[in-house]
Amino acid sequence: MAQIEADSGLRCGLRPCGIVVPFASAAERDSYPTAPWGERLDRTDLEREIPGLGPSWQAGLLFRQDGQIDNRRRLMRALERACAELGVRFQEGSEVEELLSCGGELRGVRYRDAEGGRQEITTATAVLCCGAWSAQLLPELPIVPVKGQMLSLQGPSNALQRVIFGPGTYLVPRQDGLLVVGATSEPEAGFSEGLTPAGQRQLQTGLAALLPEARHWPPMERWWGFRPCTPDQGPLLGEGPIHGLWLACGHHRNGVLLAAITADWISRHLSGQAHQAGEQAQELWRAFRWDRFRPVEAGPGGRSRLG
Ligand SMILES: Cc1cc2nc3c(=O)[nH]c(=O)nc-3n(C[C@H](O)[C@H](O)[C@H](O)COP(=O)(O)OP(=O)(O)OC[C@H]3O[C@@H](n4cnc5c(N)ncnc54)[C@H](O)[C@@H]3O)c2cc1C
Repeated sequence: MAQIEADSGLRCGLRPCGIVVPFASAAERDSYPTAPWGERLDRTDLEREIPGLGPSWQAGLLFRQDGQIDNRRRLMRALERACAELGVRFQEGSEVEELLSCGGELRGVRYRDAEGGRQEITTATAVLCCGAWSAQLLPELPIVPVKGQMLSLQGPSNALQRVIFGPGTYLVPRQDGLLVVGATSEPEAGFSEGLTPAGQRQLQTGLAALLPEARHWPPMERWWGFRPCTPDQGPLLGEGPIHGLWLACGHHRNGVLLAAITADWISRHLSGQAHQAGEQAQELWRAFRWDRFRPVEAGPGGRSRLG
């Protein structure tokens, strides 16, 4: 993040503000999978951390080490500027239509430019990072879209200091008082665009349970997106079924969180420095192979199974 800020001269909007996870009971809190990494809170602590928290939350966990980043308004602007400063060329509005390969080796890509002209790039190396659309170019990839709707409201600045990560709804307070309310999870929606009343109602219900006073804050923006989801919700990283075509996709609901480490890993491999990462990193890398879900070949008399 510091590097992006230095290269771009712009702030990324990173706020190490801590995340509070509220629970209806202490028992629920104590069985939360990452409870050992959080500070335990009772109702009094919760009221101190989140003034105005709804009455149904009796216990909580505070993860001071976590935070938030203003990805839509700041990070992407800073990243784009930093890349441009370093000589990266963007081709806005172009769409890759086909991967060109021969004998399992990447040869290039065919794409349509912003004016509709058909173009080709000859290359033996490329990175496929088309998010939820990745399987449209490479149907072997087990990636499906999971639609998510969001909403933002304008609150008083500093009304809320911490992110609240409730069950099904989370609230992210930006420094200027904008409160981001997320998010629905709609695998059945496929690539259907647009907001839905049911989705927006779900966000309002979650908001009312977490921070009742925020129901009256004026709505600012509503939007939706498609998370790229794999069968185990983990990303696909590394070389794919075509030699020379690297995969950096399928990050589901953690693509912003995992962007830096993904870029670091992929660039190390592409620049031949992967061996410096150590055996542990190599093992982690193998865990995200694209073909980890395929049935294992059945041996004599054996049964195939899903990995
Ligand atoms: C509502 C919602 C809330 C989320 N909240 C969080 C969060 O709190 N934290 C977090 O870490 N993540 C979050 N995510 C997930 C995160 O947004 C994704 O994991 C991340 O965007 C994936 O990044 P990506 O670059 O792989 O794909 P994308 O960001 O989807 O980018 C893919 C790009 O490829 C382009 N593209 C597709 N096909 C082609 C083609 N054929 N040719 C050229 N370009 C193409 C698309 O237009 C798009 O610009 C959220 C997602 C949603 C929808």
